[in-house]
Amino acid sequence: MNTLSSSSVGENAILVINCGSSSVKFSLIQPETGLALLSGLAECLLTEQAKIKIKLNNEQYKETLPSPFDHQAALTVLVKHLHQFNLVNSISAVGHRVVHGGEKYAEPALISEDVESAIESLAKLAPLHNPANLIGIKACQKAFSDLSQVAIFDTAFHQTMPAKAFLYGLPYELYKEHGVRRYGFHGTSHYFVAKQAAQQLNKPLSQCNLISAHLGNGCSVTAIKNGESVDTSLGMTPVEGLMMGTRSGDVDAGIIFHLVEQLGYSVNDVDQLLNKKSGLLGVSQLSNDCRTLEEAMLNGDTQAELALTVFCYRIAKYIASFSASLTELDGLIFTGGIGENSSWVRAKVVEQLALLNFHLSEEENQKARFGKSGNIAASNSRNCWVIATNEEWVIAEQTHNLLSSTQPIKTEV
Ligand code: AMP
Repeated sequence: MNTLSSSSVGENAILVINCGSSSVKFSLIQPETGLALLSGLAECLLTEQAKIKIKLNNEQYKETLPSPFDHQAALTVLVKHLHQFNLVNSISAVGHRVVHGGEKYAEPALISEDVESAIESLAKLAPLHNPANLIGIKACQKAFSDLSQVAIFDTAFHQTMPAKAFLYGLPYELYKEHGVRRYGFHGTSHYFVAKQAAQQLNKPLSQCNLISAHLGNGCSVTAIKNGESVDTSLGMTPVEGLMMGTRSGDVDAGIIFHLVEQLGYSVNDVDQLLNKKSGLLGVSQLSNDCRTLEEAMLNGDTQAELALTVFCYRIAKYIASFSASLTELDGLIFTGGIGENSSWVRAKVVEQLALLNFHLSEEENQKARFGKSGNIAASNSRNCWVIATNEEWVIAEQTHNLLSSTQPIKTEV
């Protein structure tokens, strides 16, 4: 049996849980180093195909989940493996990714009944995500009843945005009475890569001015002034801004009336269209996957090329527009599955940013792939980094920091 001894691991690791409606991603992280001792994914939950994969020391364990195939079943199997791997006593707390913290949470929160109620009431702003996050919290409370649980909100980093950036041009009472405003997402990712860039610049994050582009299945650009988010492209929901894998990004709101009144779409049809059938998938009519589209483009598929061209232009346009939020700019960061791996997308974006004095080194751009980070700027350019994001590490670190500052961390399950 593959095991790690508690003495080699320490007793300080944080179990990081990212719970979706039909999946649970988990990892056990040392908060000081970011080292993942164990990681894995339970997917197809609530169906008979529910399964779990756990990775430990480069070995993978796969198992089908027992009935009722739910989040609790996944966590029960995870706990069994944690015991077998001799890792249970290493866990000091559980950190949960929670998508929407509204205006209430600009910082991590120790989960209590009040915090759970707040996450539940914020589900009206994130109906697909917050209820799933709560299921994970409740399942972990059962599975790890002696451990403190902490919520880390995806929206928290963007709570520093000024009103000029977060307000829509809508009647003010919609904001005051119903919370209709820009919140932004991917906050832990933008924060993590900004901190890494600050290290490269050898100055505190609070003195750094950056634009970060998180390009994955979901995509967003954030302007960071003196270490704080001052504008971001995702809005009240994760549909606004850049074109994404299957989400449209910005569209003229009038299109929705046209779809409903002229083309007979229902509200649900519009929702499916904008969230699931648009973006790279919608324009290419082939795939939401950037790799597939790049390959198709190289084989002469002009529709794939068109989708990628629209995608890259929108990114460049957002980056350029965020120069209005900043008075200085130390550099641009690419992260997320596409940002970290696609030298073609990076080149296409940056060639449209010459006015901002961004130019790439072709050689460095080609090298920075598959986990290799680096500065890919040409010598006559502003900095332009590829930085692998690590949201799990932020969740582990912030969970650890919150608990160290408020109470002794429990070490036994
Ligand atoms: P994420 O949501 O961050 O996991 O990113 C998923 C996206 O990254 C998908 O569109 C993938 O096609 C894309 N991606 C991953 N690896 C590569 C690669 N080597 N080249 C281009 N795109 C990639």
